[in-house]
Amino acid sequence: MNIHEYQAKSIFRESGVQVQEGVHCTTVEQAVSAYESLGSDIVAVKSQIHAGGRGKGNLFNLDSGELVMQGGVKVASSKEEVEKFASNILGHRLVTKQTGPTGKVVSNLYIESGCNIAHEYYLALLVDREEDSLLIMGSTEGGVDIEEVAETSPDAIHKVWFDPSKGLDDRSASSLATSLGLSGNSHDSLVNMLGKLSSIFIDKDCSMIEINPLVRNGEGAMVALDAKVSFDENAAF
Ligand code: ADP
Ligand code: MG
Repeated sequence: MNIHEYQAKSIFRESGVQVQEGVHCTTVEQAVSAYESLGSDIVAVKSQIHAGGRGKGNLFNLDSGELVMQGGVKVASSKEEVEKFASNILGHRLVTKQTGPTGKVVSNLYIESGCNIAHEYYLALLVDREEDSLLIMGSTEGGVDIEEVAETSPDAIHKVWFDPSKGLDDRSASSLATSLGLSGNSHDSLVNMLGKLSSIFIDKDCSMIEINPLVRNGEGAMVALDAKVSFDENAAF
């Protein structure tokens, strides 16, 4: 079972995993008032569908099939832009690399405070059935297709394993942060985040948590800028 980005981020927020402020909307009017209430000059207007690759996707009119807009995640810097992007997204078909050619009709939107991005990383927690343990994968090449990174530069992907019955220890978390070239408060911020993510993963019976991109912001803090969370089919949650 998959949930939307805004729902995954609400779990993150509750658990203390740093995310931007954001508002879930289903109408253009709500999107405009969300922009005003967030009080951030720059916001991201984000289509909510159960598939990734939204940023590079295209929106089409349901009836005419005409292209309405390129990009299902747009950065807006005025009320007018938010209004325009929200109208171009809601009620339209978003086709991405992951949706297949029929795409998905967008009826949910997330308006999120703009993040000042110093660097984009990739992070995922998953179950390694062969090793009978949990696996965390991180890469300095974020915001791009991880399959591509795995093919072209597998050395750029760093891995640590941990036993779910023991939880993630700070030493493993620290070694991953160091492998990603993080130091100082960025390193500590990631170690802290990894502890919280591994607790979420275990407590909520997740099958995957993927954060692409995980961002280092201008202040050096690590922020989950995208969030994909899937649950075990048999999870009680
Ligand atoms: P998808 O993976 O479906 O394309 P993302 O949430 O990863 O969607 O967004 C695509 C890109 O948009 C990100 O890699 C990031 O560069 C940018 N982005 C997303 N959210 C924000 C935000 N709140 N502020 C600034 N840029 C953002
Ligand atoms: Mg993404």
